[in-house]
Amino acid sequence: MIRMIRNEGRTTPIVVCDNCKEPITDSEMAMAIWKQPDVDGTQAEVFHLHKGPCDRAFKAVIGDPNPWQELTKHLHYLCSNVGLSPEKLLKEEAIEQEIGTL
Ligand SMILES: [Zn+2]
Repeated sequence: MIRMIRNEGRTTPIVVCDNCKEPITDSEMAMAIWKQPDVDGTQAEVFHLHKGPCDRAFKAVIGDPNPWQELTKHLHYLCSNVGLSPEKLLKEEAIEQEIGTL
């Protein structure tokens, strides 16, 4: 799940593991998982998990197999689907670095 967390008076978005409720800090060691919709155009709730014990525990509850993506790829697709190109992301990164918000 995506949440906001307050840190030193500012809030920032984080991805939280839907199993252990801890922040995910390494996208290559995490995943997104969902139940495959049966009909085109149907949306599905997505869950974010640490790989390993968290994904195994979560799958034991919701069932397996379910489609999944490594979190790195999932966030890349997500950025693309909201019109956030790598070029725009780099421009935003430069602005944030300049004003010290990252
Ligand atoms: Zn976890």
